[in-house]
Amino acid sequence: MLHEAEKALQRYYGYQTFREGQKPVITSILRGKDTLAVMPTGGGKSICYQIPALLLPGVTLVISPLISLMKDQVDALHSVGIPATYINSSLDSREAAERISRARKGAFKLIYVAPERLETDSFCSLADHLPISLVAVDEAHCVSQWGHDFRPSYLAIAAFMEKLLARPIMAAFTATATPEVQADILERLALSAPEVFVTGFYRENLAFSVVKSGNKSGFVLKYLSAHPEQAGIIYAATRKEVDNLYAFLRKNGYAAGKYHAGMSDAERTASQEAFLFDEIRLIVATNAFGMGIDKSNVRFVIHYNLPKNMEAYFQEAGRAGRDGEPSECILLFAPQDVQIQKYLIEQSVEAADRKPLEYEKLQSMVGYCHTTRCLQQYMLQYFGEQDLLECGVCSNCSSEAVLTDMTTIAQKIFSCIRRMNERFGVKLVAQVLKGANTQKVRQFKFEQLSTYGIMAEYTEDQISGFIHLLIAEEYIRMTDSQYPVLSLLPKAFPVLSGEERVYQRVWMRQLRQSGDDALFEQLRQLRRELAQRDKVPPYIIFADSALREMSQSCPMSEAEFLQVKGVGEQKAKKYGPPFLAAIRQYVAEHGSSRAAGEPEQTEAAGEAKKVPSHLLTLQMYQAGKTLKEIAAERKLGLVTIQDHLLRCGREGHDVDWGAFIPAAHEAAILAAVRELGSEKLRPIKEQLPEEVDYMAIKAVIAKYAGAPERT
Ligand code: ADP
Ligand code: MG
Ligand code: ZN
Repeated sequence: MLHEAEKALQRYYGYQTFREGQKPVITSILRGKDTLAVMPTGGGKSICYQIPALLLPGVTLVISPLISLMKDQVDALHSVGIPATYINSSLDSREAAERISRARKGAFKLIYVAPERLETDSFCSLADHLPISLVAVDEAHCVSQWGHDFRPSYLAIAAFMEKLLARPIMAAFTATATPEVQADILERLALSAPEVFVTGFYRENLAFSVVKSGNKSGFVLKYLSAHPEQAGIIYAATRKEVDNLYAFLRKNGYAAGKYHAGMSDAERTASQEAFLFDEIRLIVATNAFGMGIDKSNVRFVIHYNLPKNMEAYFQEAGRAGRDGEPSECILLFAPQDVQIQKYLIEQSVEAADRKPLEYEKLQSMVGYCHTTRCLQQYMLQYFGEQDLLECGVCSNCSSEAVLTDMTTIAQKIFSCIRRMNERFGVKLVAQVLKGANTQKVRQFKFEQLSTYGIMAEYTEDQISGFIHLLIAEEYIRMTDSQYPVLSLLPKAFPVLSGEERVYQRVWMRQLRQSGDDALFEQLRQLRRELAQRDKVPPYIIFADSALREMSQSCPMSEAEFLQVKGVGEQKAKKYGPPFLAAIRQYVAEHGSSRAAGEPEQTEAAGEAKKVPSHLLTLQMYQAGKTLKEIAAERKLGLVTIQDHLLRCGREGHDVDWGAFIPAAHEAAILAAVRELGSEKLRPIKEQLPEEVDYMAIKAVIAKYAGAPERT
């Protein structure tokens, strides 16, 4: 049957192969099963019912709400030689009756009907005389009130099916993947023992990442200057936030546009067109922007605030890379954004009974920001897609994620929160750790605490950044109240007692550029503070050119710091620690401009000890642990661990590939790799027996790669 389907695909549509996801749906329908297919817009749902329509006897009824498009769809079918027609309110009753009588004589393989038709007696009695093999319900989410397009007439479909003398196969199609809509469809269309397929959401050209940064605008500036020619969308949660960020970017010399519902129609159209026609490369927008936007060369989508749920995020982020070119989707996470979304849920008046659901969805979105699993996998599993590979390029499973030990910093923060009796917020805790002399500090006599000033080498903002990170990682709880208060969560105690360490995952890719303005600015700020403290003019501490060089070379150790022009031993001793701390903190948050994919392996100085993630894996592997054990212990995906070893291999470390290659299949794998190339693994995997896993393929590629290449 599948073979017949493939022949039809080639013969009628001129496509050589089915897309991922089409095959199982078509097979299921041809086997006579009721089927629900969830595929993204543009995924190719039409073919999934049109080809069965061609292969099944009799006629297929296609129920579609898009009356204005029916004629086009039917014309398109005629143009490829498939007999089809439509019946809707644009026809008079004589015309409709005539089409039905022709249908009874077998003149059509497909008939498109509007759902309202099914409620009329005349159509129902005529339908009984038609040999209907399949009823395909397109845009099936219209049956659900949870969906965005509820059509009451869709509720009549189930009753119509009941009335038919012989029940045809029923297949439903939608792009809306939320679990409750899926459940609604199954129930309200009364699909019988349905097969459900959710496929095609995987976007292999998108690199997702979550950036936990205390300095979002700094990140954006840095990102934009590293990607000077690329088009991108920056989504923010509120109009005010859009206005602010827009003004900020303009001030910094970026010709951005903006878009939100508070602007006039004319202004919005102008912004949208300027963006679509590449007159401006950047647009700052609320989620009002993007409906129907199909600009193909959007290279990045940055979310400045947390979206309200995964559906919104996937849709908005998914506007990146429509052309299939590598693109980035970056979510800037700050715990305060969770409060904003909760507030918005509380404020929404329309449906009080939906609030628990909205909270649940928000929770999944927050989970996305905290997970250590492959981000794309996390997201698509939420939608119900199964059997996913890890993407290998997101900020969690990229082999360029590096672990940084921040245990000492965490301990200092935890003990300070405790000594302040867990009654104060981020700002005051940061001030105490910094050793600030403010009225509030004096009022509570916090200058007498043993934790007062123990993080004096950092700026207050840096300390706040660390605290937010520990909130995000669920070591610290921040209350939901108007004046949020910090307290310790159970996870913090083993860290305080020294039993557990805190690692921060630092993502070292991207941002190739000659120097870093945001870091430069931070170093200048630090210099200003030190100058005030020591009562000297700033240039006495370091010249601008020295700061510029630091922002470019990002020294990590005292030895490297000494290499910077204008840094002698005396100054290195006196000012090295605060500057190195600032640079490390910055690199931890943003990635280093010099990193460009290769984490430094220099001797680490001070507390932020860097261990390249892939080398850590190699050490564990050489110590006799299995890949599964390493994955479990490091809370990383198996594929990530595999990639680590492969990377070690490429870098010239000794890895025994043979251990991963089943001898019986080695020759076949090698042949497949030679035939299909090593660019994409999926086609190779598909050509080989089930039991050959991805690691075996990767190992073969590595083993026969000859001279080691570098990524
Ligand atoms: P959906 O209804 O899922 O939004 P469509 O059925 O309208 O998507 O298909 C989107 C586009 O993809 C159409 O241009 C269609 O011809 C094309 N398409 C569908 N299946 C294939 C395939 N197997 N190979 C190539 N193009 C395909
Ligand atoms: Mg469609
Ligand atoms: Zn991933």
